[in-house]
Amino acid sequence: MTATSLSRRRVLGALLRGRVPGQLVIQYTDHCNALCAQCGMNARSGIPRSVLGADKAVALVDAAAEKGFLALSFTGGEPLLHLGEIVELSRRARAKGIPLVRTGTNGFLFRGHEKPDFPDRMRRLAETVAESGLNNFWISLDSADPAVHERNRGLPGMVLGVEKALPVFREFGLYPAANLGVNRLVGGDTPPPPAAEDPDGFREHFRAAFRRFYSFAESLGFTTVNACYPMSLPEDRAREQAVYAATSADGMVRFSGLERPLLYRALLAAVESVRHRLRVFTPRSALLCLIREHEGGEAAFPCRGGVDFFFVQAGGLTAYPCGYRGSEPLGPFPDLDVSRLSRRASCSACDWECFRDPSVLAGPLLELVTRPVAGIWRLLRDRELARAWLDDLRYYRACGDFSLRRAPDAWHMARFARLAPAESGLTPIPAA
Ligand code: SF4
Ligand code: SF4
Repeated sequence: MTATSLSRRRVLGALLRGRVPGQLVIQYTDHCNALCAQCGMNARSGIPRSVLGADKAVALVDAAAEKGFLALSFTGGEPLLHLGEIVELSRRARAKGIPLVRTGTNGFLFRGHEKPDFPDRMRRLAETVAESGLNNFWISLDSADPAVHERNRGLPGMVLGVEKALPVFREFGLYPAANLGVNRLVGGDTPPPPAAEDPDGFREHFRAAFRRFYSFAESLGFTTVNACYPMSLPEDRAREQAVYAATSADGMVRFSGLERPLLYRALLAAVESVRHRLRVFTPRSALLCLIREHEGGEAAFPCRGGVDFFFVQAGGLTAYPCGYRGSEPLGPFPDLDVSRLSRRASCSACDWECFRDPSVLAGPLLELVTRPVAGIWRLLRDRELARAWLDDLRYYRACGDFSLRRAPDAWHMARFARLAPAESGLTPIPAA
Protein backbone atom coordinates (compact mmCIF):
# COMPACT_ATOMS: atom_id res chain seq x y z
CA MET A 1 0.00 0.00 0.00
CA THR A 2 1.42 3.42 -0.90
CA ALA A 3 1.89 6.20 1.64
CA THR A 4 -0.82 8.14 -0.17
CA SER A 5 -3.47 5.43 -0.04
CA LEU A 6 -2.54 4.62 3.56
CA SER A 7 -2.86 8.33 4.39
CA ARG A 8 -6.32 8.51 2.84
CA ARG A 9 -7.49 5.49 4.84
CA ARG A 10 -6.07 7.01 8.04
CA VAL A 11 -7.80 10.31 7.33
CA LEU A 12 -11.14 8.62 6.80
CA GLY A 13 -10.78 6.39 9.87
CA ALA A 14 -9.92 9.35 12.10
CA LEU A 15 -12.74 11.49 10.73
CA LEU A 16 -15.24 8.74 11.42
CA ARG A 17 -14.04 8.81 15.05
CA GLY A 18 -14.56 12.56 15.10
CA ARG A 19 -10.88 13.39 15.00
CA VAL A 20 -8.25 14.70 12.63
CA PRO A 21 -5.43 12.20 11.97
CA GLY A 22 -2.68 12.65 14.54
CA GLN A 23 0.49 14.60 13.99
CA LEU A 24 3.50 14.59 16.32
CA VAL A 25 6.36 17.06 16.08
CA ILE A 26 9.46 15.72 17.81
CA GLN A 27 12.22 18.18 18.55
CA TYR A 28 15.25 15.95 18.33
CA THR A 29 17.65 18.66 19.47
CA ASP A 30 17.62 22.36 20.24
CA HIS A 31 21.30 22.72 19.41
CA CYS A 32 21.91 24.73 16.28
CA ASN A 33 24.90 25.95 14.31
CA ALA A 34 23.15 28.84 12.56
CA LEU A 35 22.75 32.46 13.65
CA CYS A 36 19.19 33.26 12.49
CA ALA A 37 17.93 36.49 14.06
CA GLN A 38 14.35 35.15 13.92
CA CYS A 39 15.00 32.22 16.23
CA GLY A 40 15.71 31.84 19.93
CA MET A 41 17.76 28.68 19.32
CA ASN A 42 20.45 30.35 17.25
CA ALA A 43 24.02 29.43 18.16
CA ARG A 44 24.55 32.72 20.03
CA SER A 45 21.51 32.42 22.30
CA GLY A 46 22.26 31.34 25.83
CA ILE A 47 19.38 28.86 26.24
CA PRO A 48 20.05 25.54 27.98
CA ARG A 49 20.37 22.83 25.32
CA SER A 50 19.30 19.19 25.07
CA VAL A 51 19.32 16.24 22.71
CA LEU A 52 16.44 13.80 22.89
CA GLY A 53 18.58 10.76 22.11
CA ALA A 54 17.74 7.65 20.13
CA ASP A 55 16.10 5.63 22.95
CA LYS A 56 13.54 8.29 23.86
CA ALA A 57 12.93 9.05 20.21
CA VAL A 58 12.26 5.37 19.48
CA ALA A 59 9.73 5.33 22.33
CA LEU A 60 7.99 8.36 20.81
CA VAL A 61 7.97 6.96 17.28
CA ASP A 62 6.57 3.64 18.49
CA ALA A 63 3.93 5.39 20.59
CA ALA A 64 2.88 7.59 17.65
CA ALA A 65 2.56 4.48 15.48
CA GLU A 66 0.49 2.68 18.14
CA LYS A 67 -1.83 5.67 18.38
CA GLY A 68 -2.33 5.52 14.59
CA PHE A 69 -0.76 8.92 13.91
CA LEU A 70 -0.57 10.01 10.29
CA ALA A 71 2.39 12.36 10.40
CA LEU A 72 5.67 12.69 12.24
CA SER A 73 8.08 15.61 11.97
CA PHE A 74 11.62 15.72 13.30
CA THR A 75 12.54 19.29 14.01
CA GLY A 76 15.35 21.12 15.77
CA GLY A 77 17.48 23.14 16.35
CA GLU A 78 19.26 21.59 13.44
CA PRO A 79 18.05 17.99 13.03
CA LEU A 80 20.84 17.01 10.64
CA LEU A 81 23.42 17.47 13.39
CA HIS A 82 22.10 13.93 14.06
CA LEU A 83 21.59 12.77 10.49
CA GLY A 84 22.20 9.09 11.22
CA GLU A 85 19.65 8.98 14.04
CA ILE A 86 17.04 10.88 12.05
CA VAL A 87 17.43 8.49 9.12
CA GLU A 88 17.07 5.45 11.38
CA LEU A 89 14.05 6.93 13.14
CA SER A 90 12.40 7.80 9.82
CA ARG A 91 12.88 4.24 8.60
CA ARG A 92 11.44 2.92 11.84
CA ALA A 93 8.43 5.24 11.65
CA ARG A 94 7.63 4.11 8.11
CA ALA A 95 8.13 0.46 9.01
CA LYS A 96 5.72 0.91 11.94
CA GLY A 97 3.09 2.29 9.56
CA ILE A 98 3.34 6.07 9.88
CA PRO A 99 2.84 7.21 6.29
CA LEU A 100 4.16 10.79 6.45
CA VAL A 101 7.61 11.45 7.92
CA ARG A 102 9.37 14.78 7.56
CA THR A 103 12.50 16.61 8.52
CA GLY A 104 14.50 19.58 7.31
CA THR A 105 17.76 21.41 7.54
CA ASN A 106 19.28 24.86 7.65
CA GLY A 107 21.53 23.63 4.85
CA PHE A 108 24.86 23.62 6.69
CA LEU A 109 25.81 20.38 4.93
CA PHE A 110 25.66 22.24 1.60
CA ARG A 111 28.56 24.52 2.48
CA GLY A 112 31.96 23.95 0.88
CA HIS A 113 30.75 23.58 -2.72
CA GLU A 114 34.17 24.71 -3.94
CA LYS A 115 35.96 21.79 -2.28
CA PRO A 116 36.91 18.75 -4.38
CA ASP A 117 34.99 16.30 -2.19
CA PHE A 118 31.68 18.23 -2.54
CA PRO A 119 30.15 16.11 -5.38
CA ASP A 120 30.88 12.90 -3.50
CA ARG A 121 29.52 14.32 -0.27
CA MET A 122 26.32 15.34 -2.01
CA ARG A 123 25.93 11.91 -3.60
CA ARG A 124 26.32 10.28 -0.20
CA LEU A 125 23.84 12.70 1.35
CA ALA A 126 21.28 12.16 -1.42
CA GLU A 127 21.73 8.40 -1.16
CA THR A 128 21.20 8.56 2.61
CA VAL A 129 18.01 10.62 2.22
CA ALA A 130 16.79 8.31 -0.57
CA GLU A 131 17.21 5.27 1.66
CA SER A 132 15.52 6.90 4.65
CA GLY A 133 11.78 6.76 5.09
CA LEU A 134 11.38 10.50 4.62
CA ASN A 135 8.48 11.78 2.52
CA ASN A 136 9.37 15.45 2.93
CA PHE A 137 12.74 17.10 3.29
CA TRP A 138 12.93 20.87 3.49
CA ILE A 139 15.86 23.26 3.18
CA SER A 140 15.40 26.67 4.79
CA LEU A 141 15.69 29.79 2.66
CA ASP A 142 14.97 33.23 4.13
CA SER A 143 15.36 35.60 1.21
CA ALA A 144 15.42 36.03 -2.55
CA ASP A 145 18.82 37.63 -2.03
CA PRO A 146 21.39 34.90 -1.32
CA ALA A 147 23.69 37.34 0.48
CA VAL A 148 20.87 38.36 2.84
CA HIS A 149 20.01 34.73 3.53
CA GLU A 150 23.59 33.67 4.20
CA ARG A 151 24.29 36.74 6.35
CA ASN A 152 21.24 36.04 8.49
CA ARG A 153 21.98 32.33 8.83
CA GLY A 154 25.75 32.72 9.20
CA LEU A 155 26.19 29.97 6.61
CA PRO A 156 28.32 31.43 3.78
CA GLY A 157 28.32 29.55 0.47
CA MET A 158 25.27 27.49 1.39
CA VAL A 159 23.01 28.78 -1.40
CA LEU A 160 25.40 27.90 -4.23
CA GLY A 161 25.93 24.53 -2.57
CA VAL A 162 22.18 23.88 -2.64
CA GLU A 163 22.03 24.86 -6.30
CA LYS A 164 24.77 22.36 -7.10
CA ALA A 165 23.28 19.65 -4.91
CA LEU A 166 19.69 19.70 -6.18
CA PRO A 167 20.54 18.02 -9.54
CA VAL A 168 22.33 15.29 -7.58
CA PHE A 169 19.21 14.81 -5.45
CA ARG A 170 17.12 14.61 -8.62
CA GLU A 171 19.34 11.78 -9.89
CA PHE A 172 18.17 9.89 -6.81
CA GLY A 173 14.53 10.77 -7.51
CA LEU A 174 14.40 13.36 -4.69
CA TYR A 175 12.78 16.79 -4.81
CA PRO A 176 13.48 18.70 -1.57
CA ALA A 177 11.35 21.71 -0.69
CA ALA A 178 12.53 25.27 -0.06
CA ASN A 179 11.14 26.39 3.27
CA LEU A 180 10.59 30.11 3.67
CA GLY A 181 10.23 31.50 7.17
CA VAL A 182 8.25 34.63 6.27
CA ASN A 183 10.21 37.71 7.35
CA ARG A 184 10.85 41.32 6.43
CA LEU A 185 13.89 40.50 4.32
CA VAL A 186 12.16 37.98 2.05
CA GLY A 187 12.66 40.21 -0.99
CA GLY A 188 16.06 41.58 0.06
CA ASP A 189 17.31 44.43 2.22
CA THR A 190 14.93 47.14 0.97
CA PRO A 191 12.38 47.91 3.74
CA PRO A 192 8.63 48.11 3.00
CA PRO A 193 6.81 51.44 3.33
CA PRO A 194 5.06 51.86 6.71
CA ALA A 195 1.76 49.97 6.62
CA ALA A 196 -0.04 52.64 8.64
CA GLU A 197 0.75 55.33 6.04
CA ASP A 198 0.69 53.25 2.88
CA PRO A 199 -1.12 49.90 3.30
CA ASP A 200 -1.31 49.29 -0.46
CA GLY A 201 2.40 50.01 -0.80
CA PHE A 202 3.18 47.65 2.08
CA ARG A 203 1.13 44.87 0.52
CA GLU A 204 2.61 45.44 -2.93
CA HIS A 205 6.13 45.44 -1.48
CA PHE A 206 5.56 41.97 -0.05
CA ARG A 207 3.69 40.66 -3.06
CA ALA A 208 6.71 41.55 -5.23
CA ALA A 209 9.06 40.17 -2.56
CA PHE A 210 7.27 36.81 -2.41
CA ARG A 211 7.20 36.55 -6.19
CA ARG A 212 10.92 37.33 -6.27
CA PHE A 213 11.47 34.66 -3.67
CA TYR A 214 9.53 32.03 -5.60
CA SER A 215 11.42 32.86 -8.81
CA PHE A 216 14.68 32.62 -6.91
CA ALA A 217 13.76 29.22 -5.44
CA GLU A 218 12.85 28.03 -8.94
CA SER A 219 16.12 29.33 -10.35
CA LEU A 220 18.02 27.29 -7.76
CA GLY A 221 16.23 24.15 -8.95
CA PHE A 222 13.55 23.77 -6.30
CA THR A 223 10.23 22.39 -7.49
CA THR A 224 8.41 22.62 -4.13
CA VAL A 225 8.15 25.47 -1.63
CA ASN A 226 6.52 25.99 1.72
CA ALA A 227 6.05 29.07 3.88
CA CYS A 228 6.21 29.28 7.68
CA TYR A 229 4.16 32.21 8.90
CA PRO A 230 5.97 34.65 11.22
CA MET A 231 6.36 33.33 14.76
CA SER A 232 6.98 36.43 16.77
CA LEU A 233 5.62 36.15 20.27
CA PRO A 234 6.01 38.93 22.84
CA GLU A 235 9.35 38.31 24.55
CA ASP A 236 7.85 37.79 28.01
CA ARG A 237 5.26 35.31 26.74
CA ALA A 238 7.85 33.38 24.72
CA ARG A 239 10.16 33.19 27.72
CA GLU A 240 7.44 32.11 30.11
CA GLN A 241 5.47 29.71 27.97
CA ALA A 242 7.20 28.49 24.83
CA VAL A 243 8.99 25.17 25.07
CA TYR A 244 9.88 25.48 21.39
CA ALA A 245 12.26 28.40 21.14
CA ALA A 246 11.74 28.91 17.39
CA THR A 247 10.29 32.32 18.17
CA SER A 248 11.80 35.72 18.49
CA ALA A 249 10.77 39.27 19.22
CA ASP A 250 13.23 40.42 16.54
CA GLY A 251 11.85 43.05 14.16
CA MET A 252 12.64 40.73 11.24
CA VAL A 253 9.62 38.55 12.08
CA ARG A 254 7.53 40.98 14.13
CA PHE A 255 4.44 42.14 12.24
CA SER A 256 1.70 44.29 13.73
CA GLY A 257 -2.00 43.47 13.70
CA LEU A 258 -2.38 45.91 10.81
CA GLU A 259 0.48 44.38 8.86
CA ARG A 260 -0.42 40.70 9.16
CA PRO A 261 -3.52 40.61 6.94
CA LEU A 262 -1.71 42.73 4.34
CA LEU A 263 1.22 40.32 4.50
CA TYR A 264 -1.02 37.29 4.04
CA ARG A 265 -2.92 38.94 1.19
CA ALA A 266 0.43 39.56 -0.51
CA LEU A 267 1.45 35.94 0.05
CA LEU A 268 -1.87 34.67 -1.30
CA ALA A 269 -1.50 36.74 -4.46
CA ALA A 270 2.06 35.50 -4.98
CA VAL A 271 1.05 31.88 -4.36
CA GLU A 272 -1.72 32.15 -6.92
CA SER A 273 0.66 33.50 -9.51
CA VAL A 274 3.23 30.70 -9.30
CA ARG A 275 1.49 27.55 -8.23
CA HIS A 276 0.92 26.26 -11.74
CA ARG A 277 4.67 25.87 -12.18
CA LEU A 278 5.99 25.50 -8.62
CA ARG A 279 4.44 23.16 -6.03
CA VAL A 280 3.43 25.59 -3.29
CA PHE A 281 2.30 23.83 -0.13
CA THR A 282 0.75 26.96 1.45
CA PRO A 283 -3.05 26.34 1.30
CA ARG A 284 -5.13 29.22 -0.02
CA SER A 285 -7.92 28.28 2.39
CA ALA A 286 -5.57 28.59 5.39
CA LEU A 287 -4.37 32.01 4.22
CA LEU A 288 -7.96 33.11 3.73
CA CYS A 289 -8.78 32.04 7.30
CA LEU A 290 -5.72 33.85 8.69
CA ILE A 291 -6.57 37.02 6.76
CA ARG A 292 -10.08 37.00 8.17
CA GLU A 293 -8.85 36.34 11.72
CA HIS A 294 -6.35 39.18 11.55
CA GLU A 295 -9.02 41.45 10.11
CA GLY A 296 -11.10 40.79 13.23
CA GLY A 297 -13.07 37.65 12.35
CA GLU A 298 -13.30 34.38 14.25
CA ALA A 299 -11.18 31.34 13.47
CA ALA A 300 -13.33 29.21 11.15
CA PHE A 301 -11.31 26.09 11.97
CA PRO A 302 -9.30 26.55 15.18
CA CYS A 303 -5.96 24.81 15.64
CA ARG A 304 -5.95 21.08 16.45
CA GLY A 305 -2.87 21.56 18.68
CA GLY A 306 -3.52 19.67 21.93
CA VAL A 307 -6.51 17.92 20.36
CA ASP A 308 -4.97 15.84 17.57
CA PHE A 309 -1.54 17.43 17.11
CA PHE A 310 1.23 17.41 19.72
CA PHE A 311 4.78 18.57 20.33
CA VAL A 312 7.57 16.95 22.33
CA GLN A 313 10.64 19.02 23.12
CA ALA A 314 14.20 17.73 23.13
CA GLY A 315 14.33 17.81 26.92
CA GLY A 316 12.13 14.73 27.50
CA LEU A 317 9.05 12.71 26.62
CA THR A 318 6.43 15.20 27.78
CA ALA A 319 3.74 16.03 25.25
CA TYR A 320 2.54 19.63 24.87
CA PRO A 321 -0.38 20.93 22.81
CA CYS A 322 2.26 22.65 20.70
CA GLY A 323 5.60 24.29 21.24
CA TYR A 324 4.02 27.51 22.48
CA ARG A 325 1.69 26.25 25.23
CA GLY A 326 4.44 25.10 27.54
CA SER A 327 2.30 25.78 30.60
CA GLU A 328 -0.07 22.94 29.60
CA PRO A 329 1.99 19.72 29.76
CA LEU A 330 -0.04 16.60 28.97
CA GLY A 331 2.28 14.03 30.56
CA PRO A 332 4.56 11.56 28.80
CA PHE A 333 3.49 11.16 25.18
CA PRO A 334 3.63 7.34 25.23
CA ASP A 335 1.07 7.38 28.10
CA LEU A 336 -1.24 9.91 26.47
CA ASP A 337 -4.69 8.51 25.75
CA VAL A 338 -5.65 10.72 22.85
CA SER A 339 -9.17 9.30 22.67
CA ARG A 340 -9.90 10.79 26.12
CA LEU A 341 -8.98 14.32 25.06
CA SER A 342 -11.67 16.76 24.03
CA ARG A 343 -12.41 16.67 20.30
CA ARG A 344 -13.17 20.37 20.25
CA ALA A 345 -10.46 22.72 19.07
CA SER A 346 -10.52 26.32 20.29
CA CYS A 347 -7.03 27.84 20.11
CA SER A 348 -6.01 30.37 17.49
CA ALA A 349 -3.35 32.16 19.51
CA CYS A 350 -0.62 31.98 16.88
CA ASP A 351 -0.06 31.35 13.18
CA TRP A 352 2.21 28.27 13.44
CA GLU A 353 1.70 26.77 9.99
CA CYS A 354 2.68 23.23 11.03
CA PHE A 355 -0.57 23.02 12.95
CA ARG A 356 -2.70 25.80 11.46
CA ASP A 357 -2.49 24.71 7.80
CA PRO A 358 -3.57 21.08 8.37
CA SER A 359 -6.25 22.24 10.83
CA VAL A 360 -7.89 24.25 8.07
CA LEU A 361 -7.37 21.57 5.41
CA ALA A 362 -8.97 18.90 7.59
CA GLY A 363 -11.52 21.16 9.30
CA PRO A 364 -14.31 21.14 6.68
CA LEU A 365 -13.95 17.37 6.18
CA LEU A 366 -14.27 16.79 9.92
CA GLU A 367 -17.30 19.03 10.09
CA LEU A 368 -18.94 17.31 7.12
CA VAL A 369 -18.47 13.90 8.76
CA THR A 370 -19.35 14.82 12.35
CA ARG A 371 -21.95 17.56 11.78
CA PRO A 372 -23.03 17.17 8.17
CA VAL A 373 -25.80 19.75 8.26
CA ALA A 374 -23.54 22.39 9.79
CA GLY A 375 -20.72 21.43 7.41
CA ILE A 376 -22.86 21.67 4.29
CA TRP A 377 -24.47 24.90 5.53
CA ARG A 378 -21.04 26.46 6.13
CA LEU A 379 -19.82 25.58 2.64
CA LEU A 380 -23.02 26.83 1.03
CA ARG A 381 -22.99 30.05 3.05
CA ASP A 382 -19.27 30.75 2.70
CA ARG A 383 -18.63 30.17 -1.00
CA GLU A 384 -15.34 32.01 -0.84
CA LEU A 385 -13.87 29.58 1.69
CA ALA A 386 -15.56 26.56 0.06
CA ARG A 387 -14.01 27.38 -3.31
CA ALA A 388 -10.54 27.94 -1.85
CA TRP A 389 -10.70 24.72 0.18
CA LEU A 390 -11.97 22.49 -2.64
CA ASP A 391 -9.35 24.01 -4.90
CA ASP A 392 -6.64 23.21 -2.32
CA LEU A 393 -7.72 19.57 -2.23
CA ARG A 394 -7.53 19.33 -6.03
CA TYR A 395 -4.21 21.13 -6.04
CA TYR A 396 -2.71 18.77 -3.46
CA ARG A 397 -3.56 15.82 -5.67
CA ALA A 398 -2.05 17.57 -8.68
CA CYS A 399 1.13 18.10 -6.64
CA GLY A 400 1.42 14.44 -5.69
CA ASP A 401 0.75 15.33 -2.05
CA PHE A 402 4.08 17.22 -2.09
CA SER A 403 6.05 14.02 -1.83
CA LEU A 404 9.82 14.34 -1.75
CA ARG A 405 9.89 11.40 -4.14
CA ARG A 406 7.61 12.61 -6.92
CA ALA A 407 8.64 14.74 -9.85
CA PRO A 408 6.35 17.66 -10.61
CA ASP A 409 3.47 16.80 -12.91
CA ALA A 410 3.49 19.82 -15.22
CA TRP A 411 0.35 18.75 -17.06
CA HIS A 412 -1.82 18.56 -13.94
CA MET A 413 -0.30 21.67 -12.38
CA ALA A 414 -0.91 23.74 -15.52
CA ARG A 415 -4.61 23.65 -14.69
CA PHE A 416 -3.85 25.94 -11.77
CA ALA A 417 -2.57 28.83 -13.85
CA ARG A 418 -3.42 32.11 -12.18
CA LEU A 419 -7.10 32.24 -11.31
CA ALA A 420 -9.22 34.98 -12.73
CA PRO A 421 -10.02 37.50 -9.95
CA ALA A 422 -13.64 36.37 -9.87
CA GLU A 423 -12.47 32.82 -9.09
CA SER A 424 -9.64 33.62 -6.73
CA GLY A 425 -11.88 33.89 -3.72
CA LEU A 426 -10.50 37.22 -2.50
CA THR A 427 -10.60 40.87 -3.38
CA PRO A 428 -8.50 41.16 -6.53
CA ILE A 429 -5.07 42.74 -6.17
CA PRO A 430 -4.06 44.88 -9.12
CA ALA A 431 -1.28 43.44 -11.31
CA ALA A 432 2.20 44.86 -10.71
S1 SF4 B 1 15.69 28.91 12.53
FE1 SF4 B 1 16.50 26.81 12.46
S2 SF4 B 1 18.56 27.08 11.60
FE2 SF4 B 1 17.94 29.08 12.33
S3 SF4 B 1 18.74 29.22 14.44
FE3 SF4 B 1 16.61 28.43 14.56
S4 SF4 B 1 16.81 26.23 14.60
FE4 SF4 B 1 18.75 27.06 13.84
S1 SF4 C 1 -2.78 28.14 17.54
FE1 SF4 C 1 -0.61 28.23 18.11
S2 SF4 C 1 -0.65 28.35 20.38
FE2 SF4 C 1 -2.67 27.56 19.72
S3 SF4 C 1 -2.50 25.31 19.75
FE3 SF4 C 1 -2.04 26.01 17.67
S4 SF4 C 1 0.18 26.19 17.57
FE4 SF4 C 1 -0.42 26.18 19.74
